[in-house]
Amino acid sequence: MAETLIKISGVRKEYKVEAGPNVVALNGVDLEIKRNEFICVVGPSGCGKTTLLNIIAGLEPFDSGSVTMHGEEIIGPGPDRGVIFQQYALFPWMTVRRNIEYGLKFQEKMFTDEEKSELVSHYIKMVNLEGFENSYPKALSGGMKQRVAIARGYALNPEVLLMDEPFGALDAQTRAQLQEDLLHTWESEKKTAFFITHDVDEAVLLATRVVIMSARPGQIKEIVDINLPYPRTQATKMDPEFIRLKNYIWDAVYKMYLEIPK
Ligand code: ADP
Ligand code: MG
Repeated sequence: MAETLIKISGVRKEYKVEAGPNVVALNGVDLEIKRNEFICVVGPSGCGKTTLLNIIAGLEPFDSGSVTMHGEEIIGPGPDRGVIFQQYALFPWMTVRRNIEYGLKFQEKMFTDEEKSELVSHYIKMVNLEGFENSYPKALSGGMKQRVAIARGYALNPEVLLMDEPFGALDAQTRAQLQEDLLHTWESEKKTAFFITHDVDEAVLLATRVVIMSARPGQIKEIVDINLPYPRTQATKMDPEFIRLKNYIWDAVYKMYLEIPK
């Protein structure tokens, strides 16, 4: 069994709401994230996915339970956890190359200019942005901006990448392309990933395990192993086992959605 990287035990998070009852966003959440796995989290809107990611990132305090990385309590953000948001958060005044290079600053290692240049070129190639090194974000499409954000996430060289619906704002074709790029990158670097999506197809395509969350309060309902072989491509979606897993998870999520009072 692979080494446990992050351990979440009995986490409870309640948001104080001024006008109205408090919201119990998470209650009794237990999860172990193993090194090199690709976890996708799905669940109805409002079930606490973002809250859980922010807690792992050290950006959100919680009421009880514990979250550890390598056995040590997570008490705030750190360069061992890289976060990629849906809205790319690039620096508009920096070129693609500079935006990615910025990620290198957070590594402990000091790089020479030559090493920096080589590393940045490696990440640019990885996300298929060759030829756009000197472009500014405003000149790029949404998909390209998200590629820069992903390359910068990798340049941080964190132990785990935390991604909150990173492809949520992209059109279907761009999304499919970025899924393949991300798969390709994960297959070669095996960087531990914690990836939130509301798209069940996307979850099954990428993940080694899919975590299904339920709402009110947010809890882990079920964890499904995805035993489809890598490398995976869009063609994997035709595999009968893919279809079986997708239907199974979709059904579980949809049933919960129907149970939520609207
Ligand atoms: P998800 O990402 O799964 O959609 P969130 O983690 O964003 O869910 O939210 C979980 C629940 O907590 C929701 O009911 C949401 O309305 C509530 N919530 C999130 N952030 C806050 C906040 N800052 N104050 C009050 N309630 C919040
Ligand atoms: Mg969310």
